Amino acid sequence: MAADCIFCKIIAKELSAKIIDEDQDCIVIEDITPKAPIHYLIIPKKHIDNLHDIKSEDTQLMGKLMLMAKKLGSKLPDPKAFGLIINNGEDAGQSVFHLHCHFLSGKRMTEL
Ligand code: 5GP
Ligand code: ZN
Repeated sequence: MAADCIFCKIIAKELSAKIIDEDQDCIVIEDITPKAPIHYLIIPKKHIDNLHDIKSEDTQLMGKLMLMAKKLGSKLPDPKAFGLIINNGEDAGQSVFHLHCHFLSGKRMTEL
């Protein structure tokens, strides 16, 4: 747990959030300011600032985030379309420095 990290506090249940799913490796919450009708954040429970800091030992964890995305995607109404975004660094739009994957669905997203 990193000090003053909002997502670590949500994982520790010290801050509240709408929890969509949770397992031993990650938690899925609703984004507080959704950019799409469905906007979840898939967050590893291990604090990692962003993709610059992942190590080979995190390989399985990163795969588990993708499997969670698949699980969330399987519960969507047809056509079960969704986008995933990971922002790395302020200039890429990262505002919370605990690695997370944006899961977006419910609108047509033609732009990258
Ligand atoms: P980033 O900009 O780092 O890629 O994404 C951070 C996301 O976290 C933003 O979309 C923002 O709306 C969301 N966020 C920031 N603080 C909170 C919070 O306290 N609760 C929840 N549920 N989402 C948050
Ligand atoms: Zn954290």
